[in-house]
Amino acid sequence: MNVSGKQPSCDLSCDLMIIGTGMAGMAAALFAARQGLDTIQVGLTGEIGFASGLIDLLGVHPVAQGAPVDDPWEGIARLCRDEPHHPYARLDIETIRTAVQTLLDFFETSGYPHAVSERGNQRVMTPVGTLKTTYAVPHTMQAGAWALARQAPCLLVDFEGLKGYSARQIAAGLADRWPALTPVRLVFPGGRGELYVEHMARALDAPAVRQQLVDALRPHLCGMAAVGLPAVLGMYRTREVQADLQSSLGLPVFEIPTMVPGVTGLRLRELFEQRLPAMGVRPLFQHRVLAARRSKDGGMAFTIAPEDAPRRIQARAAVLCTGRFFGKGLQADRGGIRETLFGLPVAQPKDRASWHHKDLLDVQGHPINRAGVEVDADFRPVDAQGRPVHDNLFAAGSILAHQDWIRQKCGSGLAIATAYGAVKSAARFLQKLYS
Ligand SMILES: Cc1cc2nc3c(=O)[nH]c(=O)nc-3n(C[C@H](O)[C@H](O)[C@H](O)COP(=O)(O)OP(=O)(O)OC[C@H]3O[C@@H](n4cnc5c(N)ncnc54)[C@H](O)[C@@H]3O)c2cc1C
Repeated sequence: MNVSGKQPSCDLSCDLMIIGTGMAGMAAALFAARQGLDTIQVGLTGEIGFASGLIDLLGVHPVAQGAPVDDPWEGIARLCRDEPHHPYARLDIETIRTAVQTLLDFFETSGYPHAVSERGNQRVMTPVGTLKTTYAVPHTMQAGAWALARQAPCLLVDFEGLKGYSARQIAAGLADRWPALTPVRLVFPGGRGELYVEHMARALDAPAVRQQLVDALRPHLCGMAAVGLPAVLGMYRTREVQADLQSSLGLPVFEIPTMVPGVTGLRLRELFEQRLPAMGVRPLFQHRVLAARRSKDGGMAFTIAPEDAPRRIQARAAVLCTGRFFGKGLQADRGGIRETLFGLPVAQPKDRASWHHKDLLDVQGHPINRAGVEVDADFRPVDAQGRPVHDNLFAAGSILAHQDWIRQKCGSGLAIATAYGAVKSAARFLQKLYS
């Protein structure tokens, strides 16, 4: 739906501009495309490469008690009652379910399905030998959650030359909870030397390389019920790679996440980058928005990098998904915490001394991690009086205030759900504008 009518005098124009290419930006672009909105997406695609590929909805509540959540839907309902300013509380449970399911359907139709458990949250191994609670796991990790739940005897494999990943360390870290883990170090097909997960994953897309790996694994399988490998089971053909290894070995095979940036994040990045343009989103990846202002006609005018040849984009509405400090949506300095693009008000502790507790590992989490942009029921950033700063600016993702996604273990869920809410509100705004 291009409802913008006449083209303004600028390089590009659109109805909806999405700023950011982390999970919130990508999800917002997907939802906008599904609504048929005329959308441009701008951002650097680096950050999503850091994603683990796991979709957390809510893993801990309340954080002060470090209480694990088994059923994320029940947990979110409780969280919304206990923390009415949390961004999840801007949405009802059914809307959050729809948002998450829409994204999972997208992964499925893109050939990279994620698995959820009927019982709620699942637990998977981490590369440092701990367990992580999450909601949806890439299909390549599903057998790991299954094996863990049954304490099945498992072969854990690592490879000479692969740094930051040790099967022995994982087995040692889990020894008291899952003693039936047997670590082994193998030479990756193709020889010795320094290994990189992306190269390994691309190599395993080839059947001949998989056959060599099968030959190397076979002597170690006696008494094993499953085989755990670092997350390198192919780049584009994960289903084929996993199925092929499983049928050759006669055992379930699963991935364990590696240190970031890992292949799981790269897979998501490539999947979004390839599919969104085909769905009608106009991407300007590897571009940064340098400046944003309200234009005379009530729309938004953006200047985007590169600085030596800046381009201008005119949009009727925008969704801000620029993240926190890591994504560069927020910046902290001596004067306080500020939003970097629009200079939006930021809800934050009253002074710098209150940013952190004295104990680095304080279970409550540090107040600075709940700083961010406050929004109204339509996900529009608001001023100190609770009034929308712009009627056509919406925000989503980790830039939002009153959440601590790292401690609450709700990173992707929060990004996806709020992106859904923000895009729906933006679509309503656009419809009203042109009706
Ligand atoms: C190391 C790591 C591990 C994680 N592991 C998990 C996990 O296991 N499970 C889980 O559910 N979640 C995990 N997450 C969190 C998950 O990815 C979050 O959903 C995410 O970080 C928040 O998404 P976001 O899109 O709001 O922000 P970000 O991911 O920070 O993205 C912000 C985006 O905005 C862009 N941007 C900023 N300023 C501009 C500008 N001026 N112009 C254009 N673009 C701009 C940035 O380039 C970036 O693309 C992890 C995150 C990290 C960093």
